[in-house]
Amino acid sequence: MKVGLLDYLVCPQCKKPFRLDALEWDGEEVKRGSLFCGDHAYPITQYIPRFVDVDPYASNFSLLWKEYRRTIMEDGAEETLERFSSNTGFLPEDLKGQLVLDVGCGAGRFSKLVNDAGGTVVGFDISSSVDVAFEAIGRRPNVHLLQASVFQMPFAPSTFDSLFSIYVLQHTPDPHRAFLELPLLLKRGGRIAVGVYRWPPNYVLEKYRQWTSRLPPRLLYALCHLAVPIYYLHQIPMIRGITLYLFPIAMYPNWRRRVLETFDFYSSIYQSYHTYPEVFSWFQEAGLEELQLLGADLVALQGRRC
Ligand SMILES: [Zn+2]
Repeated sequence: MKVGLLDYLVCPQCKKPFRLDALEWDGEEVKRGSLFCGDHAYPITQYIPRFVDVDPYASNFSLLWKEYRRTIMEDGAEETLERFSSNTGFLPEDLKGQLVLDVGCGAGRFSKLVNDAGGTVVGFDISSSVDVAFEAIGRRPNVHLLQASVFQMPFAPSTFDSLFSIYVLQHTPDPHRAFLELPLLLKRGGRIAVGVYRWPPNYVLEKYRQWTSRLPPRLLYALCHLAVPIYYLHQIPMIRGITLYLFPIAMYPNWRRRVLETFDFYSSIYQSYHTYPEVFSWFQEAGLEELQLLGADLVALQGRRC
């Protein structure tokens, strides 16, 4: 953690500012220490302030992102840009010089994009994927990473110029409530972009997920390697209609990616699907203006805090 992050933080419980107690420094970074408001203390371990106990419902994502490190961060740059822009309506260069919050940053692929374009990024995630993100981008001067829940965020109100959350809120127990936490973190005039999974779901997949999400992540990950041969089954014209229906998998040609995305389908404990009218009503409820409908693969909107 860099000292500069303190400017944006408050205690998630009592909203008081923190005092930093550094036990071990590594250059500009606090490697180990704690944040203390006077009543509550939170640890800093392995360079990251931690505001949650270990992975309450997201241990699958911890595993997922550690495996992702090799594939997405390295060879998905163009796809990452396309997904970011189509689902947030932000061009990375628009965020240059801004303070931007990445809600559910995973391994940090969108944080990296924003920082590459000259934005200062604060990224947080409930899973230990933040450790993967730290390895990739954590030492950059304008990148701050922390582990926290969207339901108990440690940020002061009216802090950020822009914020975004894509592919994330549908994996929380209550996406609507999670969404409503976000706009208040924006400065007046700041922009928010949110994208969630689009209704309807694949019902066969959802049936399977009821039990696959309860398997130990490692076991499920091993099982997802079945996606490697099933991909070829799905290429046979005679039986394709049936096999696609019975064995939904991610259809990426790169087998490693295919396994990971299939794991993503089957591992989430929470996974909800949403419509434009529903998400539009969330934005209206939060009093946001200048709403834009976006999204290629997601139901995504952008709005402005007035
Ligand atoms: Zn406190």
